[in-house]
Amino acid sequence: MQRTDSADVIVIGGGIAGTSVAAELADSGGNRPALRVVVLERESRLGYHTTGRSAAIYAPSYGPTTVRALTRASRPAFSTPAPDGTPLTLPRSALFIARADQADAVETLCGEIGDTLQLMTGAQARELCPLLRESYVDQALLDPGTEEIEVALLHETFQRRVRAGGGEIVPDTGVTDIAKAGQDWRVETPKGTFTAPVVVNAAGAWADEIAKLAGVKPVGLQPKRRTALIVDCPEGVSAERWPMVISVDEQFYLKPEAGQLLISPADTTPSPPCDAQPEELDIAICVDRIETAFDLSVRRIAHKWAGLRSFVADGEPVAGYAADAPGFFWLAGQGGYGIQTAPALGRTAAALVRREQIPDDIAAAGVAEASLSPARPGLG
Ligand SMILES: Cc1cc2nc3c(=O)[nH]c(=O)nc-3n(C[C@H](O)[C@H](O)[C@H](O)COP(=O)(O)OP(=O)(O)OC[C@H]3O[C@@H](n4cnc5c(N)ncnc54)[C@H](O)[C@@H]3O)c2cc1C
Repeated sequence: MQRTDSADVIVIGGGIAGTSVAAELADSGGNRPALRVVVLERESRLGYHTTGRSAAIYAPSYGPTTVRALTRASRPAFSTPAPDGTPLTLPRSALFIARADQADAVETLCGEIGDTLQLMTGAQARELCPLLRESYVDQALLDPGTEEIEVALLHETFQRRVRAGGGEIVPDTGVTDIAKAGQDWRVETPKGTFTAPVVVNAAGAWADEIAKLAGVKPVGLQPKRRTALIVDCPEGVSAERWPMVISVDEQFYLKPEAGQLLISPADTTPSPPCDAQPEELDIAICVDRIETAFDLSVRRIAHKWAGLRSFVADGEPVAGYAADAPGFFWLAGQGGYGIQTAPALGRTAAALVRREQIPDDIAAAGVAEASLSPARPGLG
């Protein structure tokens, strides 16, 4: 049977972005009114796209200025365990490695985020990750502030909060058309029509497509494919306590992953929005770069995938009402940082949807409405 339903807010997209803002909007905590929220997700499984394909790292030193501020502001949420007591993060430092000819890149990284990093020799780096080739690594920078995120648990926690607040998450419900009908937006899906005065566009790589459906000016989102492989650890080696190892110029990374190793060529290939799949060339490049830096021979690829990291021109996220369409709210462009920023970005977006100030703790971390605005210079 076709549905005809109305809500206060319709969120398009059930990834980490859509569920984080929906959780905050459905929450009647404090003295705010809870809003009736409906999340529409095209896939049958939430997290099928980028949210379920990440490297699951919390890295406060990674990304441009506002991303780093949002990541810092998300720290308290990551320190709060899930309702069943399971921690949302696990220890996992990051080690940026450099060859002898990359001393300049080490200096640049030190200049950008030096206060949080510890400079070490190649020998010290190899004590932390013995698989590193002596002939490859000359010096390294250790970031003890990074951690591993339990992404599925974080995502599930947001979904539970949506439902606990009376909200609804509707999978298998792809949005096919969006039009203004009086004060409301009319959102068409194969399951029926949903109406609300506010639509939140949290459609990940498809956010510009959603804007076009609604007749709203796109923000110039560029999805970029990134590949990841799971390979075996050498026989008898336990990698569990190793840091994540990243080349200082972000050409590859390696991370312990449930008894195996996650490796990536850190590719950034432009792509249309799609169900991204790994390309043979990227897999070959990945294996070559990893075998060059590590004493590792990749004999078997246990699992492989690719996902889309979506960016606008300045690399910062977009959160705010469209200037050209009342009630159309953007929540997009989280790039490679959408998990680590989700708690603070979800709260920020919810405040802006409600036309409130950005929460004090997030503003104090350095997040300003103007730097998230879809109307800021350079977008579109
Ligand atoms: C290999 C890789 C490594 C990464 N590593 C990290 C990391 O270590 N740390 C970190 O913080 N971030 C990382 N990221 C980035 C992070 O995963 C993303 O920033 C984040 O998942 C984006 O979430 P999202 O909800 O915007 O997008 P998505 O998870 O893609 O969700 C968007 C949803 O919108 C839905 N949708 C689209 N169109 C429609 C429609 N018409 N109707 C209904 N629904 C629709 C889609 O089906 C999708 O489920 C990584 C990404 C990749 C690919």
